[in-house]
Amino acid sequence: MDYKEHIAIVENWPKEGIQFKDITPLMDNGPAFKSAVDDIVEYAKDKEIDIVVGPEARGFIVGCPVSYALEIGFAPVRKEGKLPRETIKVDYGLEYGSDILTIHKDAIKPGQRVMIVDDLLATGGTIEATINLVEQLGGVVAGCAFLIELTYLDGRSKLDGYDVLTLMQY
Ligand code: AMP
Repeated sequence: MDYKEHIAIVENWPKEGIQFKDITPLMDNGPAFKSAVDDIVEYAKDKEIDIVVGPEARGFIVGCPVSYALEIGFAPVRKEGKLPRETIKVDYGLEYGSDILTIHKDAIKPGQRVMIVDDLLATGGTIEATINLVEQLGGVVAGCAFLIELTYLDGRSKLDGYDVLTLMQY
């Protein structure tokens, strides 16, 4: 399936100079959304994944159906102040700004095999921070899956040694 047919490109949003890749048309299209989720599920199948981790908010949209299909859990990574119980945190930078990400301290047990899922790999700041959180808790990052990769921002350079799947490249 040509997933790019279902991505809307929005120039200069949310800031001048950013070319935003909007995945909502893909989400709108049942067969395309299911096929994209199925591709990630297929990628995960031989990796003995124990839990899916996704950063807010689009990591939830893509990661939750993957965890449902694999019949395993999902752990949310959120901005500071959003998770109600004890958390660990990390500072990170992204294509347009910087922030703090957190995860519940008991979200991952040491040795668990984790797949991180997000909508888009841009500079790699978010995935790098998410890997940092998972590894602080003793999780093993067994795979990272994204719908979209912006190759011109070279987020992959932050993922040396990790197994990475991207369904579309720009
Ligand atoms: P990064 O940390 O730079 O890899 O950015 C990844 C996160 O920012 C992803 O979770 C995306 O949701 C969002 N993002 C960054 N750049 C874009 C873009 N050009 N279009 C859509 N989303 C983006």
